[in-house]
Amino acid sequence: MIIVALGLLGIIFGSFVNALVWRLHEQELLADKKGVQAAKRRHDLSIVNGRSMCPDCGHELAAKDLVPVVSWLALGGRCRYCHKPISWQYPAVELLTGALFALSYVWWPLSLHNAGLFQFVLWLVFLVGFVALAVYDIRWFLLPDRVVFPLIAVAVAQVAVTAIWNHDVTNMWQPVAAAAIIFGLFWMLFQASKGAWIGGGDVKLAIVLGLLVGTPFRAFLVIFFASLLGTLASVPTLAKGKKGWKAHIPFGPYLLLAAVIVVLYGTPIVNWYQGLVQY
Ligand SMILES: [Zn+2]
Repeated sequence: MIIVALGLLGIIFGSFVNALVWRLHEQELLADKKGVQAAKRRHDLSIVNGRSMCPDCGHELAAKDLVPVVSWLALGGRCRYCHKPISWQYPAVELLTGALFALSYVWWPLSLHNAGLFQFVLWLVFLVGFVALAVYDIRWFLLPDRVVFPLIAVAVAQVAVTAIWNHDVTNMWQPVAAAAIIFGLFWMLFQASKGAWIGGGDVKLAIVLGLLVGTPFRAFLVIFFASLLGTLASVPTLAKGKKGWKAHIPFGPYLLLAAVIVVLYGTPIVNWYQGLVQY
């Protein structure tokens, strides 16, 4: 029952992610524009005030057009008003967020009481931010500060509140060290390659991921999985010869996926590794 409810909640948040990502990007395009037209457009695109609209024709959407997944299927993947196709990415993002919410409950490694429940709720917030970042990075090769910075604030708050709640303030150096390791490594890669190997957004995101996974060893796991996933995923593209090594492949989605794996599956992986080291 809770799994279904969380899945539905995730689908609703996925729909929010779609709107958020599109609006952030449209706002970015407007950033340098001045005048009455731009001001009105800016207001329409506001995440707080703006009404939902078709990305193509700008027609305001009614409630029946906004039911996640269902509306898209019912309308055959087209806008009711201009009949332009609406990308399958919209329902896909909604279903992905729903699946992540439900699976997080199934695989949640901590308790669901007190500090554990607090961390779970914040984890759902992180998931929403992560899906938004992944979509943005895949489409426009950028991790926008307007998503990354709030996540840094949430991560700092999570570490501080959890430490105080668990009377474990002396162990706070662990998440801080984890963040310093990923941030430091990425910052060096960024400087050495002048942004070619790794984007500035990845460097800032490193702070969030380090604080979130919480220990230096897990920070290394995130780097390991992200590199592995990134390499595996780029093999078919490289084999086809479509993109050379120099082609821009966004690293953000792999980094985010790696962090999800480490948060949900970190404990068994760490135990397995410790078993290997002992014998
Ligand atoms: Zn339309």
